[in-house]
Amino acid sequence: MTQRSTSRTDVLKLARLRGEPEIFYSIQGEGKSIGIPSVFVRTTLCNLHCIWCDTDYTWNWEGTRFSHKNDDKPGYRKFSKKEWMVECNIDAVAAAVADFACANVILTGGEPMLQQAALVRLMEQLCAQSKDYHFEVETNGTLLPSPAFDQQIHQYNVSPKLENSGNPQKLREKSGPLRFFARSPKANFNFVVAEPSDLEEILSMLQQYAIPPDRVWLMPEGSTPAVLNKRRKWLVEICKKHGFRYSDRIHVQIWGAKKGV
Ligand code: SF4
Repeated sequence: MTQRSTSRTDVLKLARLRGEPEIFYSIQGEGKSIGIPSVFVRTTLCNLHCIWCDTDYTWNWEGTRFSHKNDDKPGYRKFSKKEWMVECNIDAVAAAVADFACANVILTGGEPMLQQAALVRLMEQLCAQSKDYHFEVETNGTLLPSPAFDQQIHQYNVSPKLENSGNPQKLREKSGPLRFFARSPKANFNFVVAEPSDLEEILSMLQQYAIPPDRVWLMPEGSTPAVLNKRRKWLVEICKKHGFRYSDRIHVQIWGAKKGV
């Protein structure tokens, strides 16, 4: 795929996996659209730095001051930005997406909303080819969508980060964007839950932004089936008690921590 560095709206910074931009066809593994065959476009870069992030190759660069839980694991190395990030021409990204002949497109990351202008160009280009496209974006909920971006997006999968992510509150909780998403009928809220004690924080956020429970999906934190299995048992009970949706993370169940699936 062509690598370019023209203007910011002409290129997308994508994760690079096995030498190629990370654009792949799979099923949505979690949340409202779980199980839907989808094309994923993985942007790189993130404005948060969750210690358990399972896409750490989009931000845990060599030399960064941020930490990840794997930093101390034998054999783990922070990622070379040069090796793991690729700048791609929008035309080439649109062609790669269209090749899969799948209408559900999921913009994921990293934090895709850091690159809204380029993503608008991508969505416009795809819509010019077919009106059937349906665009979801997976976001940490800290950035406001531009009107042009909001016009193209059909579904926001907003995943506000909790204290368990290791990000300071002033970075992970932005009231303006959260108010916007709370009011948008296109937004649903996914919370990654590591401990039962996370519930207090979730309930407080939902109350503060007037988010009803039927727009909330809780999913267990974990990058292995064994960890998910342990956590889902108490998480399901929390969902039953409060009227939240439970979501498994079926990509982890099927493929574990494998990338690009
Ligand atoms: S917001 Fe998402 S991509 Fe960014 S560090 Fe957290 S889990 Fe990873």
